[in-house]
Amino acid sequence: MSTQEQSAATTPKTKSPDVVVVGAGTAGCYAAATIAREGYDVVILERKPESEAGHIACGDALKGADSFPEAIPKSKLEPAFTNTGVDHGRFEIPQEDTVLEIPIPGELAVIDRWEYGRRIIDGAGDVGVDFQYDTVVKNVIQDDDGRVTGVEAIRNGEPLTYEADIVIDAAGSLSVLQDHVDFSASAFDTNVNYTHFCSAYREIVHVDEPVEWDDALVFKPTERAAGYLWYFPRTETEINAGLGFQMTEEPMKLVDDLKRDLETRPEFRNAEVEDKLGAALPTRRPYDSAVHPGYMAIGDAAGHVNPTTGGGIAGAAYGGKYAGEAAIEAIETGDVSEKALWEYNERVMDHFGARYAALDVYNILSTAVDVDDLMGLLAAIPGEKLAEALYSGSTSLGPKLAIESLLNSRGHWGTIWTLFQTKRRADDLLELYEGYPHHPAALEHWQQRRDDIMEQVYETTGAEPKY
Ligand SMILES: Cc1cc2nc3c(=O)[nH]c(=O)nc-3n(C[C@H](O)[C@H](O)[C@H](O)COP(=O)(O)OP(=O)(O)OC[C@H]3O[C@@H](n4cnc5c(N)ncnc54)[C@H](O)[C@@H]3O)c2cc1C
Repeated sequence: MSTQEQSAATTPKTKSPDVVVVGAGTAGCYAAATIAREGYDVVILERKPESEAGHIACGDALKGADSFPEAIPKSKLEPAFTNTGVDHGRFEIPQEDTVLEIPIPGELAVIDRWEYGRRIIDGAGDVGVDFQYDTVVKNVIQDDDGRVTGVEAIRNGEPLTYEADIVIDAAGSLSVLQDHVDFSASAFDTNVNYTHFCSAYREIVHVDEPVEWDDALVFKPTERAAGYLWYFPRTETEINAGLGFQMTEEPMKLVDDLKRDLETRPEFRNAEVEDKLGAALPTRRPYDSAVHPGYMAIGDAAGHVNPTTGGGIAGAAYGGKYAGEAAIEAIETGDVSEKALWEYNERVMDHFGARYAALDVYNILSTAVDVDDLMGLLAAIPGEKLAEALYSGSTSLGPKLAIESLLNSRGHWGTIWTLFQTKRRADDLLELYEGYPHHPAALEHWQQRRDDIMEQVYETTGAEPKY
């Protein structure tokens, strides 16, 4: 090999788009499409091959699709909506031999998730996003001031360097990029621990006869604390069946436990498993800040998931839109500082982050209460009352519900009292998040006030500190 050939083999090829997005999931596609629509040069680096891209472990329930960001037109996604007839949750409580039916307001679809994944990639491609598959991002490049200026990747054994004004981390749960960034120059949230995640697994199961509950999302607690099973009908004969547990708990044998539950259900006799996937999902509050000079994290990589339901598609799409718009502004003003990107944090908190942070309080509570007691209490509450309390605009169980429950649920008064007190803490938290700071310098003081409320949450619930 000549010296020139040797150097070509070892010197990484360098590309310089305006923005590099890592990950071709919902967050990455929406961010990149938002930016590309304004005429900027955006590349998405995706570790999977093109044939596998968009294949994501998910329960396939898509809430709020009616108001998804327009960067990818809804008409593009609709063919992947295989069941739009779902209008309620069906909570099976075997301990109490009860089934609770709770209406779910708003548009809800169970989707063919892989088809949806392909369609958002297609939608981003339509507006000019450049997809590079088989490209694993291995490292993040920073200048002497700590600003992120690009990433290093490998494609089919070949090292590549991408330099960009902005790097958007849409690499999903436990994003490897964050292990490589020195965040000391910013307030980027590094208080992230594996116990903030849920380990989940799902199968797509085909049954011969239509299920009776094809208009419902079916939920069921597992026998162990903080675990849950779901059965979501993609069609009346194709069911997304899955389960998960919070990683604070003893690990479950997810595949075996799901198999055992499937075996107890007559509707799954002779069922065929068509696809299997597992993954971690963040069931925690959103990152306090997901920006650093030249860098933003979005979607699962920034904890943008409803921590009580595990629903993260909508948060990923909107996080993508807001980060995309912040990136455009930063490029146009030539300012990629933390302060310039901060508005992205504010928009996330304003739209859904504050609510998710408040809901996280109930997740914390669930790790401390006796599950049988909680299920006994739920079984004692009329479904429509629970729905009313859940969707009344408040974060969750309200005083009206508590009074209703008191009348019906002798034997669970201690739990009701804890719930009531927990709701007050959740409301305090929501109020504080509604005053999320307008600039990074004010974050530390805000965090102190938030941590004071969290102390009260741990005291009220009896839970171990989560953060
Ligand atoms: C089992 C399960 C069930 C769920 N059920 C639901 C549900 O019913 N409804 C709902 O709304 N949400 C659900 N969620 C959550 C939802 O799937 C996620 O919140 C959502 O997919 C997050 O999108 P994202 O774009 O942030 O990340 P992802 O969709 O995970 O995309 C990340 C992408 O980054 C790529 N990537 C990662 N690392 C690298 C790297 N180093 N280099 C290059 N590429 C990389 C990955 O290959 C992937 O394509 C569920 C999650 C799980 C695990």
